[in-house]
Amino acid sequence: MQDEPYFYHPLENIEDIDDFETAVNRTHLTKSLSPERPYTYWTLEIYDQENGIRGGGGLGVLAADTRRIAEQMGVPFALITPFYPSEGHQKMDGNRVIDEHHPVDYRNFGFKYIDSVNIKCCGTLCHLDVVEKCFRSSRIICITEPNFGELYSGMSGSDHRLYQEVSLGFGGYAALKLLGLKPAIMQLNEVATFFAALARLDELASNGMDFYEAVVYTRKHTLYTNHTLVQAAEAEFGIEQFERFVYPNLKSPAVRKWINDKFVNGKMKLSSVAIEIAELRSGVSKLHARVANYHDIAGNKVKFKAITNGIDMNKWVMPEIMKFYHENNIVDSINYPTEKFIGNLSAITADKIRELKRRGRIVLNETLANRPDQNGKILHFDDDEFIFDFKRRFVDYKRPELPFKNLSRLKQILESANAHYILAGRIHTGDDTMAGKLYKLLDEIKKDEFLSSHVHYIADYDEKLAYGLSCGSNTAINVPIVGLEACGTSWMKDIANLNLLISTHDGGVADASYDNYLSVRGASENDELEELYRRMEEAVNAWQNDFDLEFLMQKQLSAYIPVISGSRMMRDYLDYLFPA
Ligand SMILES: *Cc1c(COP(=O)(O)O)cnc(C)c1O
Repeated sequence: MQDEPYFYHPLENIEDIDDFETAVNRTHLTKSLSPERPYTYWTLEIYDQENGIRGGGGLGVLAADTRRIAEQMGVPFALITPFYPSEGHQKMDGNRVIDEHHPVDYRNFGFKYIDSVNIKCCGTLCHLDVVEKCFRSSRIICITEPNFGELYSGMSGSDHRLYQEVSLGFGGYAALKLLGLKPAIMQLNEVATFFAALARLDELASNGMDFYEAVVYTRKHTLYTNHTLVQAAEAEFGIEQFERFVYPNLKSPAVRKWINDKFVNGKMKLSSVAIEIAELRSGVSKLHARVANYHDIAGNKVKFKAITNGIDMNKWVMPEIMKFYHENNIVDSINYPTEKFIGNLSAITADKIRELKRRGRIVLNETLANRPDQNGKILHFDDDEFIFDFKRRFVDYKRPELPFKNLSRLKQILESANAHYILAGRIHTGDDTMAGKLYKLLDEIKKDEFLSSHVHYIADYDEKLAYGLSCGSNTAINVPIVGLEACGTSWMKDIANLNLLISTHDGGVADASYDNYLSVRGASENDELEELYRRMEEAVNAWQNDFDLEFLMQKQLSAYIPVISGSRMMRDYLDYLFPA
């Protein structure tokens, strides 16, 4: 505890009041971006190992890619996120997965210390260090402290999570002011970042702006990006948790009353207030924006603008393949599809595909050189060995176990093609259901000599493994239960790196029609399974037949390059936020 006033960084002038008239009189923002007035992006998770921060999955990959794309396009951009001083890893012990924790120091990744800010929690003043890493037009601003913990440590409605979320929101907003930055827009990457918008509302309402004007203003400048489908599944916080972690950081009694009124039976889902504070709302694929089932406090269904995720192709696509796309005028210098890209795709011949994939195989073998499979074996694949891969978080709806439901059928497919099946994906700590499914699968495979040497589980799935597999495998399998994948981006890495995609018609894959890839459709899981096996055989045959290979690859790319392109995504966001 300290005596100095906590969290008090008064504004020299009330940052936004001049723009207020403009904002309330227009449907959208008109203010353009500048270095002092950047696009701000708030996220509890970023997957950016190059910059020292490891994420959990797609949400974090998207955050890191969005910043890199903004950088490539010269968009003034500030990403605000925690720097977690510890990160989780997994390794195999026999057929079992063990969690490990590694300390991480921001100083080893080019971040520099700026100053510290305070937030107040449970009657104590908490110091948060503000550290920053600048790029050209973008920067990553982190708040951190030694006991901040790990990403997603604890349960989602726990005190520690609330502490992390409040730290990012109030601490991150104070950090922006420390750096002299005024957000042109606040994009909230999921509801856990809600407190950033609350901090702004409180700032405005406690510095002379009328409360209702402050609400209108904050709403006009906040974009809430939803990645989840069902509101019902979201964790709740209790009012007494807010009394300890949130209210001490609010200066405006009106804001406190506003938020306090949003509790229902003493409980609150952050999505209900994120919807209230953000007039701009987006979902991450066409299908997801349509089916996300969210209601506002008045009970009305919430509409989400569809802005499908893209990827940073410079990061995820093999340089040799990018060079090919550029030389053949398939994408332009910021990796936006050219006007003639579909015609130009005819340059992708079977010979070219095989040549580029030979290079990809080398990348994969290098990636696997220090990552043994469940048998402790270091894998090395020759060019003529066929590889199927399934790589994504092990969560129920993604159905990693589906292809193993009929083991003899799977074995027959792999045997006749001399094919390997590589599984990679982290199990969320404490997810006993998924751990059980993996163990059952590994135990069954172990009983069969052929399967044991042709089905490989690689632990500690991360960006490097994702990259290596998309470069070096032949066919990727993506079979979420239809309706449950918000977007998915692994499949984008696969298509761009010239793999065939076998997928259910879900998430961003459903942005284009199902005849553009090897689709798995069926009225029941059994039908889907049969279709999946047929598609696996089809993929093996296509890789042996130049005409089919070219045809399928060109079809995938012509349908999906515009979806995959990260600069397309960034343009979609900018058009939505700052229409001409
Ligand atoms: C690309 C990537 C993801 C995204 O996975 P999806 O299941 O396709 O959303 C997750 N984790 C890592 C490490 C990745 O590289």
